[in-house]
Amino acid sequence: MTSHPGESSGFDPVVIGVLALQGDVREHLYALESAGAEAIPVRRERELNAVDALVIPGGESTTMDKLVRAFDLLEPIRRRVKEGMPAYGSCAGMIMLADRVVDAVEGQRTIGGIDMAVRRNAFGRQVDSFEADLAIHGLPEEDRPLRAVFIRAPWVESIGHGVEVIATVAREEAVPGGGSRIVAVRQGPLLATAFHPELTGDLRVHRYFVDLVRAGYDDMHGGESGEDSLWASEGAPRRGSPPGWPELHEEG
Ligand code: GLN
Repeated sequence: MTSHPGESSGFDPVVIGVLALQGDVREHLYALESAGAEAIPVRRERELNAVDALVIPGGESTTMDKLVRAFDLLEPIRRRVKEGMPAYGSCAGMIMLADRVVDAVEGQRTIGGIDMAVRRNAFGRQVDSFEADLAIHGLPEEDRPLRAVFIRAPWVESIGHGVEVIATVAREEAVPGGGSRIVAVRQGPLLATAFHPELTGDLRVHRYFVDLVRAGYDDMHGGESGEDSLWASEGAPRRGSPPGWPELHEEG
């Protein structure tokens, strides 16, 4: 965590960076500010060092991978993620946070952090883009579905045991024989969605992330040491899938 001016004197906004090399950066900056965070673009390591958390926007994961390496940010971001920095990736950002990618281009790398395999462009050409109303577990006003916009989106093909599934989508045309696909997950302080909540004006996913960052921040700064932090323990606060959810293929 970064030091905050006047952090002992009451409430300070958390500072959340948006990786600003490619993709829909502005929309995330706006959504984060609207959700109560201070949001700054991140293109340099010193900017990364100034944030409590990072959002990785939608765009194109292969391009983002090249740029993140060209800007010498891959290792610094990996390091921060390993140290427990909260991060949220949407669409291409979800791919960037995945430990494994199916249908990656040759040599494509990711930041990693979430123990999952994602399939790029998974929903197929005939449904390149679509919208769906999703129930998202743990979201503010959870009973109200979230309109999710998918654009050449990945899906999550498999997850490790520490990963919590928070949303699935049913797409008959993309999933032979019907059934659902995982499109939002959380592992500890890492959150990823295959869709783009920054495009709809519904701020609940950003509020969820800001709350998650704030919870870790308060915990670290309120507790005696980082040891007791929400994020210090391995993996996610584990929860199984809610009753009635599809059987998930888990690795390992
Ligand atoms: N298909 C893109 C990729 O592989 C993701 C698309 C998006 O972010 N909207 O990175």
